[in-house]
Amino acid sequence: MSRSAATENLRDYVAIPSVNPMGREDIDGAITGETRYAEHLKGQLGQLGVDAELLGAGERKSVVAHVQASGSDADTVVVASHLDTVPVDGMTIDPFAPRIERERLYGRGSCDTKGGMAALVAALSRVLERGKLRRNLILVGESDEEAGSLGIQDVIAHLAGRRPNWAIATEPTGMRLVTHHKGCVTARIDARGRSVHGSDPDAGDNAIETMALAVLAVRQENERLRAHPDQRLGPATISVGLAGGGKGVNVVPDQAWLSADRRTIPGEDEGSVRAQLERALVEAGLAGRTELTECYCNKDPLSTPDDDPGVMRARQALRDVGLDDSPTGVAFGTDAGPLSLAGIPSVVLGPGHIAQAHTKDEWIELGQLEEMTEFFVRLLGR
Ligand SMILES: [Zn+2]
Repeated sequence: MSRSAATENLRDYVAIPSVNPMGREDIDGAITGETRYAEHLKGQLGQLGVDAELLGAGERKSVVAHVQASGSDADTVVVASHLDTVPVDGMTIDPFAPRIERERLYGRGSCDTKGGMAALVAALSRVLERGKLRRNLILVGESDEEAGSLGIQDVIAHLAGRRPNWAIATEPTGMRLVTHHKGCVTARIDARGRSVHGSDPDAGDNAIETMALAVLAVRQENERLRAHPDQRLGPATISVGLAGGGKGVNVVPDQAWLSADRRTIPGEDEGSVRAQLERALVEAGLAGRTELTECYCNKDPLSTPDDDPGVMRARQALRDVGLDDSPTGVAFGTDAGPLSLAGIPSVVLGPGHIAQAHTKDEWIELGQLEEMTEFFVRLLGR
């Protein structure tokens, strides 16, 4: 059975492992890094007569290509589709041997988010065959979206001075146009105590007990956040995801720590989160016994106004292909956040559902892949 260009692209892309090592050292180096996939895209774009450039270093490169429109008054849209995938531990399918069954394509990255790039390149090829684009396109495949956002920072530096009008980040939104999403800050709290022999605990100061109080303070903070919801996204949240401490069961511990996942709403940043958490520790009586040792932003929140010209253009192209064009919000963060913060009004749109992202049998509906291709054809074609 012959398959569409987007499906063929997606099969090729899934077969190129581009796992984000996410700071781990136990993942086979043969499947980590985005550079192989970036080079494949550069080669494929070259066959369409489009020059692409690799940014970044080593195995963590990103790819960027500028495609000019025919008119001089055309707007410029960035389409960013991250190259990395999450790791493959515990997967029940072969992650890099794409398989099609019941109009779904299975494999790591099929949904998050190689489908977006597959649709874009298929649409670009179709539009270029017929002539020139109606808008300038900056095609971006950025590394490291799932961890530190290294790639998008390289891309933002590359775009400085070029002033694109707007951007689309392709992520699995089920083809819904996302104009609002939460951001993400990671915070670490360290507790200190004094070690003594486990047989005489009253002589020491148990850092894990102090940390238990800090866990409760974090939970309290989550309750407090509930009272200040964002209209579209609901409240910010905070949740302890990791904790540790101690040296042995018979030693009163002098150190313990926790890491918390703080989801931000528009208007918040790492500075405001830091101030709130420090206050929460003071209010819990933990000042001096605990310290907020890390508080950094992984993803900025997104809030693009409904009447932004980019939102209007995306809505028009969605209507042209008969899809729901009403803007919506999601809880997960994307590279649309940092692009927006860099002054490029951004939206998120892509095939596949977030419920299938990062799963043990990740898949995408091929029907949505075709819808995304048609969307790009309308957006970019004359
Ligand atoms: Zn993604």
